[in-house]
Amino acid sequence: MKREAFMVKKNNFNDWKEVFKNPKPITVKSFITGHVIINKRGALNPDHPKARNIGNESLKVPILAHWIHHQEFGDYLVDAGLDHSYYQNPTGNIKGIFSWLFKKLGYADEYFQEKNQDILYHVKKNSIKLKGVFLSHLHSDHMAGIRDLPKDIPYAVGKGEKYIDHKPFFYGDYLNGIEVLYEIDFSKASNMPILGPCADIFGDGSFWAIPTPGHTKGHISFLVNAPHNPILLTTDACFIKLGFEKEIGSSDYTEDILMAQLSLNNLVEFKKAYKDVKVICGHEI
Ligand SMILES: [Zn+2]
Repeated sequence: MKREAFMVKKNNFNDWKEVFKNPKPITVKSFITGHVIINKRGALNPDHPKARNIGNESLKVPILAHWIHHQEFGDYLVDAGLDHSYYQNPTGNIKGIFSWLFKKLGYADEYFQEKNQDILYHVKKNSIKLKGVFLSHLHSDHMAGIRDLPKDIPYAVGKGEKYIDHKPFFYGDYLNGIEVLYEIDFSKASNMPILGPCADIFGDGSFWAIPTPGHTKGHISFLVNAPHNPILLTTDACFIKLGFEKEIGSSDYTEDILMAQLSLNNLVEFKKAYKDVKVICGHEI
């Protein structure tokens, strides 16, 4: 798999107020592709000064993928969620000479999926003519669905996002069949208030990628400039609403906890400045 730069389009925006004055014919629909159990203490960093009362509590949260439909530019996904292999098999299609051991020790990612929850089911049911997939980051709950999706379309991540698959020991082959993985390079993107460089994906102000490093190095969030309300998809810059309300970043599964907190701070400040923005967190609808 090669990596190539995703061409960030030039636009004339440098102010969110201007962007939001011109909403575009674009919609978002979120799909639940399965569930995962996380701990509230960890989804919200327990070492954060505001997190003293956050208790040990297991939460069963959805694993999401979002369908972006633009009247002119067509259908895209933000994240791929899970493929069908998790139905009746919590570790999904994991391979490798030590996969049995990882499963036995409980190190394999475990998810829950009901029948007809997988990403391909949603794509077919909604007659989605998929033209590309944008991945917030390369964790299994966000990319496993790719295994069931067409490969003759572009897939894009944030620049520097690492792909870790421990072949031949323990691996998921999540990106098999993808010849080129496109990387969004924010150094050429518009510098926008509060959020800094943001990539205007279609060049018309309808759909933006926002760098929110921390959870992973190349992690990105998205903004959809839909009629009525702009919609912010935090993805895993914030797992659950409580984290956004209390302004507490994650610590579990998070590469750089301090950086993740700074990224969340930016999103919270953005929401405070533009109150019409609707926020959808990474693992809550
Ligand atoms: Zn996640």
